[in-house]
Amino acid sequence: MNNFTRLITAYHSGYLPYRLFSYLKAKILFTLPGTWRARLYSGDEYYCPVCDSHLSNFPPFFRPYHRWCPVCKSLARHRFVWTFFQQAKLPIHRKNLRILHIAPEDAIRNLFLSIPGADYISGDLYNKNAMVKMDVCAINYPENCFDLIFCSHVLEHVDDDRQALQEFHRVLSPEGQLMLMVPIIGEITIQDPSVTNPAERERLFGQLDHVRVYGNDFVDIVAGEGFEVETIRPNDFATDEDVRRQQLDVQDRLFVCKKS
Ligand SMILES: [Zn+2]
Repeated sequence: MNNFTRLITAYHSGYLPYRLFSYLKAKILFTLPGTWRARLYSGDEYYCPVCDSHLSNFPPFFRPYHRWCPVCKSLARHRFVWTFFQQAKLPIHRKNLRILHIAPEDAIRNLFLSIPGADYISGDLYNKNAMVKMDVCAINYPENCFDLIFCSHVLEHVDDDRQALQEFHRVLSPEGQLMLMVPIIGEITIQDPSVTNPAERERLFGQLDHVRVYGNDFVDIVAGEGFEVETIRPNDFATDEDVRRQQLDVQDRLFVCKKS
């Protein structure tokens, strides 16, 4: 998706001035050294567990509901997963945990890399920062070869999400865990392959490069491909004060899936 398409889509969304201003503000802020950003936003009101920063604010960039850590760029969903993992919820049942991280986010990558002895691979179809080029619908690895697969905010971009889930099932070890996050709005998943116009996708599916918007039936979709699914929410392990201080989104859900 090129910048011109993004600009046109933002224009059609009616939020062009907000997004342009937000983009410029973020661009300027994140060119500053991390120590400057930490000083600029230093305060007691909020806390980012990912970079251990005490902050005056989690500024909203690009979308009013996206609360960014000004120091490490974590979003609410990253802080949610980070806190979850810090509470020893990782399936560390073997010495060399084999991890596959799809569309790697910096905050989560650093967390995985900090696990002693972890055998870590990141994959992405487009992101050059990933270690291997990978299509989640055709994962070029043998069956049962990963103990943990982490895939956040990817499936809503994938045309054939069932095929991707089948591939995750194939490469996941029998005792392994697949961890998924997707944006969920409403009860029923809505998709329409005939909708290819970015502005129309943004209107119907929430983002110009989304091919569907998932509903609460996401659990059934994943279960239909041979997984037992446990749904984790921030309030399941974080106190109300943690939710407020870390600006977690109580609507976020982490789906922890095992082969059924
Ligand atoms: Zn941070």
